[in-house]
Amino acid sequence: MKKLAACLTLSLAALVPFGQESHAATTFTDVGTTHRAQAEIYYLVDGGIVGGVSSTRFVPEQQVTRDQAAAMIGRTLNLNGEQRATKFKDVGSNNFASGYIQQLVDKGIISGYLDGSFKPKNTLSRGEMALIISRAFEYNSSSVSSAASSLMKKGIAAGIADGTFGESQTLKRGDFSVFLARSINADFRTANNEKFDRNYYVNTNDGTALNMRKGPGTSYTSIGSIPTGKIVSAAYSVGDWVYISSDNVKGFVHSAYLQLDKPSDDEVVTPPAKPTPDPTPLPTPPGKKPLKDVVVVIDAGHGGKDSGSVGNGFLEKNITLNIAKKMEAYYKNVPIQAKMTRTTDTFIELEDRAAYAKKVNGSIFMSIHNNSFSNESANGTETYYYTRSAATNPNAAQSKALARYTQNRMLEAWGLTDRGVKPGPWLVIKYNTVPAVLAEVGFISNKKDMGLMGTEAGRQKLAKGLFLATLDYYYYYEGRTDVLPLYSTVNGTPSGKLH
Ligand SMILES: [Zn+2]
Repeated sequence: MKKLAACLTLSLAALVPFGQESHAATTFTDVGTTHRAQAEIYYLVDGGIVGGVSSTRFVPEQQVTRDQAAAMIGRTLNLNGEQRATKFKDVGSNNFASGYIQQLVDKGIISGYLDGSFKPKNTLSRGEMALIISRAFEYNSSSVSSAASSLMKKGIAAGIADGTFGESQTLKRGDFSVFLARSINADFRTANNEKFDRNYYVNTNDGTALNMRKGPGTSYTSIGSIPTGKIVSAAYSVGDWVYISSDNVKGFVHSAYLQLDKPSDDEVVTPPAKPTPDPTPLPTPPGKKPLKDVVVVIDAGHGGKDSGSVGNGFLEKNITLNIAKKMEAYYKNVPIQAKMTRTTDTFIELEDRAAYAKKVNGSIFMSIHNNSFSNESANGTETYYYTRSAATNPNAAQSKALARYTQNRMLEAWGLTDRGVKPGPWLVIKYNTVPAVLAEVGFISNKKDMGLMGTEAGRQKLAKGLFLATLDYYYYYEGRTDVLPLYSTVNGTPSGKLH
């Protein structure tokens, strides 16, 4: 899926080299205790985000250049700063910030000029600063004016004396440091309006406590430790790090150690109330197995050492398992069986997931995933089926039909952007022996999608939709009239013919 990788591998950020600037001194002769940006500059120096121009001087009054700004933003997001060739004719691999510039361009955070240049030594304007910060911190601003207004609302930057934002004015190193430090850590802001409104369990996987740090990176000092299993509240993310509050202490932890489910994974998912009396069974249509022998295979994507994609403080493997368990529960009220490729936080090879469907005599296979992208722009729901060659999964037509019914019920449940039903090469559907689909239910990297995917109520609604999609497939594609009474277990009705 190219950049829209469903299965983004998580790599814990390594320490980045500093290039051009010196990090050796933590006291600059030109940033004394009374300097207006003293706290913010030393905060960034602590995290290795900025250094002095020499071991003793920071030169806060010097204009910040575009390459310096890119390096600071790149280090803030823990990007790999290794110098490299870039797409710009005026940024060679000898530029200390070349690695950050190229990565920020790839992520849509920074851009060059129409003539193919980046102008690395040009000074950064306040307008450019607002846009870059709003993209790097995912404030969803598409114009300079909306970016400026986000920064003002959040207490990160104020307007200038003439009442405007002064978007064409240039910025000094000291001022840029203040804006960046405030963006990273809300404690520096003139107003801290951030809400710690999402709860997560801490899970370090090995029982040790989790370090909470002063900033988003392992260079920052630890300011406390949180026992595994504890619930913490999160406000926002900076790259893969999350700004959290625990026992009234605020700081940063890596998102890989936060999850939605209890680490023990012993949560009980209660099936929906069964209607009384039971729906009257209808006769099995000629030539079909009785419903009690029909097996839906549910595959919760990723698991164990494979977290899947990470975003907004969530791990894909936990979301997929949670949805899968909720879906499974709906089959407890009907004769059709559901079997899960995994019911706990365990790693299973993709080929083994596909083979499982055959092993348990499955009739259809549904794999549940979340999508991810490097910024907020991508969102929505899509469903994949495998179609390429009969030598692998021979059930192309059946899979496509199942994909249509799946996509339809997901859109009905969540109403997110319809990215469509598409052929895809994913191994779990390719090497399957039964009609198989892979549902990318939403984007873990998108705040709107996470408004549904990140909540129990949202996941419940989706799970019910996936259950209904399987009934729709049996009813319309396989002509199984005997599934009709099963809709009443969730007060549902058939979707209409879609294939
Ligand atoms: Zn995935």
